[in-house]
Amino acid sequence: MTDHAMERIDLLIVGGGINGAGIARDAAGRGLSVLLVEQDDLASHTSSSSTKLIHGGLRYLEYGEFRLVREALIERERLLNMAPHIIWPLSFVLPQTQSPRPAWMVRLGLFLYDHLGGREKLPGTRTVSLERSALGDGLSPRKGKAFVYSDCWVEDSRLVVLNAIDAAERGATIATRTRLIDAQREGDGWVATIEAAGRTRTVRARALVNAAGPWVADVIGRTHGARRDRGVRLVKGSHIVVPRLYEGDHAFMLQNDDRRIVFAIPYEGKFTLVGTTDEPWTDAPAKAQIGAAETSYLLDTVNRYFARKTGEADIVWSYAGIRPLYDDHSANASAVTRDYVLDLDTGADGEERAPMLNIFGGKITTYRKLAEHAMRELARFFPAAGEAWTAGAALPGGDIADADFEAFLRELATRQPDLPPALLRRLARAYGTRVDAVIGLGDLGPDLGGGLHTAEVDYLVKTEWARTVEDILYRRSKLGLHVPSGTPERLAAYLAEQGIA
Ligand SMILES: Cc1cc2nc3c(=O)[nH]c(=O)nc-3n(C[C@H](O)[C@H](O)[C@H](O)COP(=O)(O)OP(=O)(O)OC[C@H]3O[C@@H](n4cnc5c(N)ncnc54)[C@H](O)[C@@H]3O)c2cc1C
Repeated sequence: MTDHAMERIDLLIVGGGINGAGIARDAAGRGLSVLLVEQDDLASHTSSSSTKLIHGGLRYLEYGEFRLVREALIERERLLNMAPHIIWPLSFVLPQTQSPRPAWMVRLGLFLYDHLGGREKLPGTRTVSLERSALGDGLSPRKGKAFVYSDCWVEDSRLVVLNAIDAAERGATIATRTRLIDAQREGDGWVATIEAAGRTRTVRARALVNAAGPWVADVIGRTHGARRDRGVRLVKGSHIVVPRLYEGDHAFMLQNDDRRIVFAIPYEGKFTLVGTTDEPWTDAPAKAQIGAAETSYLLDTVNRYFARKTGEADIVWSYAGIRPLYDDHSANASAVTRDYVLDLDTGADGEERAPMLNIFGGKITTYRKLAEHAMRELARFFPAAGEAWTAGAALPGGDIADADFEAFLRELATRQPDLPPALLRRLARAYGTRVDAVIGLGDLGPDLGGGLHTAEVDYLVKTEWARTVEDILYRRSKLGLHVPSGTPERLAAYLAEQGIA
């Protein structure tokens, strides 16, 4: 291909996790031309393997991460208002009975948490007696007191997809199953080779954003002349899903003797999600899966707290993710900073050359601020780019009046009286105000199992880059935990019929 025929863009973003998708949205909204390449599906790695909390991170106060906690607390309610269909408040019960920390210390942490900033809708901390409160149901021994505080839940992989949809609607190209092979500086830009379905092509970009998460160092290695002085620390965290351990919509924050905490969170109606662990990881990120010691650690924790005893045979699902943390040389994996570091590389030779922005660390919670900071770093290379705009700008489907999801659902139910309430709730949660794009035509098509109709599959393929059974059953939804046997096969056959998988 001759140079003038080569595809030219402002920003080439490598990585379709939350950070890549968030930056793509922000940049496209400022008028930049953006190509995002993701080697697998959107959110197929760390960004679908989190604990799924939009939180300040109470635990990080112990490590003095006040900047991060304050920024995350402010983002918490902002994101809740931007996407109230996939983000909702969650209260946490923190029993003090088996705490390695004195009550005054926990109370002080919660006081800071309540007052560091950004709390308008969520209630402040209160104290309950576990014997007397229904919040103690299911615990054994059920005694002593607990603190109750609030954070938010997020459907993590859907948050990524919503950012990608918005980016695309603002002009970005989102190329899934497309890998960056290599890139080099040429003139004032980058020439990059990307590969999709076994075919390579070359694109020219003014700037390169490395949002490859656990592959951040691998991508640096694929770029000629990039600086290599920043390190990433890979730390694995795993979760198990077990049948519901207790009644109620609240979560528990369980303290362990090693000072780590484990969450038990209501999950998908009939389950409890339990996690997480912190284990150094040196193997390929894609190979991450839960290890035997992690499983025992999580089971021992819940068995120390809950009356209902849980064994390995009860585990219905597990997943593991790799945190791509910035290497601050901490001795302990739990103590490595969760804050993000943006490393702008403009060439090793001291000259101002084509920029590459490497992203280390971060949280789902802080992705929007991270994207703003990334754009600030790149601003001088794009003088015509617009101002910051994403604070408060609803994500697709999130423009729900007063961010009141239940009122929105009630109104939807009056418009769709024939749909089963559980199906309507699930679809409203998934698609928010865009639900009509799935159910609007009235005919949902055949049910492939568990309420997954072909109209929804068509929507996911057309609008959300879904290609495989796993994309649909485990990332665009968690229907994989619910559908009857035979559904994955029927879905695979349907996708094949459409010429997709
Ligand atoms: C166990 C665990 C629990 C967590 N819990 C929380 C939580 O409750 N709340 C919270 O806020 N945060 C949480 N986090 C942190 C959060 O999940 C991560 O910070 C975030 O998901 C990182 O996103 P990312 O976009 O950087 O990485 P990723 O989601 O991994 O995305 C990077 C993408 O880059 C792609 N890629 C890599 N190389 C290439 C290439 N050459 N070409 C094309 N694509 C490439 C990969 O396929 C990948 O999809 C948790 C993390 C873990 C591991």
